[in-house]
Amino acid sequence: MNSRKKMPPPVEQEPSLQPLSRSSRGRRCSLAAVISSAFICIVFLFISAMTLSHYRLLGFQSILTGITEDSFPEITYSRNLHNQINELLHLSSRLAYAANDVTLRMAKQSIDNKVQSIQKQINEQDGNVYLGTQLNVISNEFSSLQLLVKQKLAVQEQIIEAQNTMYVLHEKMFRLSPQVNKNSAGTTWTSAYSEMITLASKTLIKLRLQEVRQIYRQIENKIFLLEKDIISLPQSSRTSAESLTAQLRLLLFAENGLLQLKIEQLRINGRVIGREHFVKNLLDDFSRVAEFKSYQINEAVIADTNSITEKASAETKLMNAASLLVLFVLFAVIYFIKRRFVERVVLLNNHVIARLKGDKVEFDVSGNDEISDMAEAFNFFAAKVEEQKKILRDLSLTDGLTGLFNRRALDQRLDQELQSAVRNQLPVAVLIMDIDYFKRYNDIYGHLAGDDCLKQVSAALLRCKRRSTDFIARYGGEEFLFILPNTTPDGAQKMAAEVLAEVNALNIPHEGNRAAPHITMSIGIAGSCYQENLNSAELLKKADEALYKAKKSGKNCIYSS
Ligand code: GH3
Ligand code: MG
Ligand code: MG
Repeated sequence: MNSRKKMPPPVEQEPSLQPLSRSSRGRRCSLAAVISSAFICIVFLFISAMTLSHYRLLGFQSILTGITEDSFPEITYSRNLHNQINELLHLSSRLAYAANDVTLRMAKQSIDNKVQSIQKQINEQDGNVYLGTQLNVISNEFSSLQLLVKQKLAVQEQIIEAQNTMYVLHEKMFRLSPQVNKNSAGTTWTSAYSEMITLASKTLIKLRLQEVRQIYRQIENKIFLLEKDIISLPQSSRTSAESLTAQLRLLLFAENGLLQLKIEQLRINGRVIGREHFVKNLLDDFSRVAEFKSYQINEAVIADTNSITEKASAETKLMNAASLLVLFVLFAVIYFIKRRFVERVVLLNNHVIARLKGDKVEFDVSGNDEISDMAEAFNFFAAKVEEQKKILRDLSLTDGLTGLFNRRALDQRLDQELQSAVRNQLPVAVLIMDIDYFKRYNDIYGHLAGDDCLKQVSAALLRCKRRSTDFIARYGGEEFLFILPNTTPDGAQKMAAEVLAEVNALNIPHEGNRAAPHITMSIGIAGSCYQENLNSAELLKKADEALYKAKKSGKNCIYSS
C-alpha cells in the first residue's frame, strides 16, 4: 500500500468548486427590481392620493367661490333692495302728506333719487325685467300722486282764501250790526248770519263728505231764510244786508265756492289716500318679488352649503379610505421588505460571523436574488478557502522535488509515533538513508541529473514501503528517513536490506562511486522500545551515529546502533 504515490495538486490549479447557476434556484427575483417596484408603487399611491385630494379641494374651492362671489353679494343686494323699498314706503307718506309745495318737491326728489338708485342696482345685479318694469310703474304712480297732492294743496290754498274772505264778510256784518239790530228781526238776522259763518267754518274741519253735504244743505236752507228776512230789517241797513248776504251766497255756493272747494278737497284727499295706498301696495308687491328672489338665493346658498357639507363628508371618507389604503400598502411593503430582505440579510450576517469564529456553517439562504447570490458566493469562497488551506497544508509538509514528506512533516510524525509507541508499549525503528558520493554525482553528471537521481531513489524507497503506518520523508539534501512504527530491530534490519537492494537494483551509473559503479546508499538504523522513552532528537542522533558508522565501514551498507 502506498499513500504517497500522488503528487499534491498545484496551487494554481483551476478551482474545482463552481457556484450554482441562478436558473437552478427557481424564478429570479431581483432585490433591486423588487425594492424599485415597491417604491414606485408607494410613490404612485402617494401621487394618486395627492392628485385626488387636489382635484377634490378644487371642487370645494369652486363651490365656496360660488357662495362668496355670487350668493353673498346677492344676499347683500336683496337686503339693500328691501331697505330701499322701506324707505320708499316712508317717502310715499311724506309725499302724500306734504304740507306745502316745497316739502312736496323735496319728497318727490328723494323718491326719484331712490327709484334711480334701485333701478341702478337691479341693472347692475341681474337686470330683472319684471322688477324694472314694476319700478317704472311705481315711479309713474308717484308722479300721479305728486300731481294729486299738488291739486290738493292748490284747493287747500283756495279754501284758505275763501275762508279769509268769509271772515272779512263776517267782520263787515259785525260792523253793520248796530244798524241792523235796531229791531228784533235785525238781531235774529245777525245771529243767523253768524250761525252760517260758524256752520261754514265747521264744514272746513269735517273729513267726511257726507257730513259736509249735510251741513251744506243746512246752510242752503238758512241762507234762503236769511235772504227772506232782509225785508224785515230796518230800511237803512237793507241794502248792505242784501249785499253781505249775496256775497256770502256767492262765497259759499258758487261753482268754486267754499263748500264746493271743501267737497273737492275731500274728493282729492280720498284720491290721494287711495293713490298712496295703491303705490304702497305696488311697493309691497315689489318688495315681495324682491324677497322671493332673496328667498330663492337663500335656498340656493343653503343647497350649496348642504352640497359642500355632503361633498366634504364624502371626501373625508374617501380620503380616510385612501390614507388607510396607502398606510396598509406601506405596512405591507415594510413587512415584505423585512421578511424578504432584512431577515435574510441578518441571517446571512449571522452565518458570516459564525464562519469567522470558525464554525463550519452552510450559508443556507433561500430565494433567488442578490442576497441568495451573496450566500452562494460566501459558500463558494468558504469552500475555496478550505480547499486552499488543505493545499497549503499539504505543500508545507511536502518536498517539492521528490513529492515525499519534508523534514517538517517528519518531525511532527516522529513525535506522534514516539508518543503513540509509549502509549501502546510498542517499539519504533527509524532508518536514515544517505546516497553515497552524491556530490561527485552532481559534479560528474550535473545538477539536473542529480535531481532526477533523487526522484528515482525516492520512487524506489516508496516501493519498499510495506505498511500504511510506515512513513518516508526526505530528511535533507540526499538523505531520506523511514519511520517504522511497531517494528523490532530485526524488522528494521530486514527493511533496510530491502531498501539497499532496491536502490542497487536501480543501477544508476555513478563513475565516482568507490563502493560500486552505480548509485548506492548507506543506511543507519536506530530503534526505540517504549521503556527507553527516547525523544525524536535522541532517536535521530542514534540513527545518525549508525549512518556515520556505515559510511566509515565503506558505504553501501547497513549499520545498526
Ligand atoms: P558521502 O558519501 O560521504 O555521503 O559523500 P557525499 O558527497 O554524498 O556527501 P556530501 O555531504 O559531501 O555531499 C552531498 C551532496 O548532495 C552535496 C549536494 O550538492 C548534493 N545535493 C544535496 N541536495 C541536492 C539536490 O536536491 N539535488 C542535487 N542534484 N544535489 C543535491
Ligand atoms: Mg549526506
Ligand atoms: Mg551522501
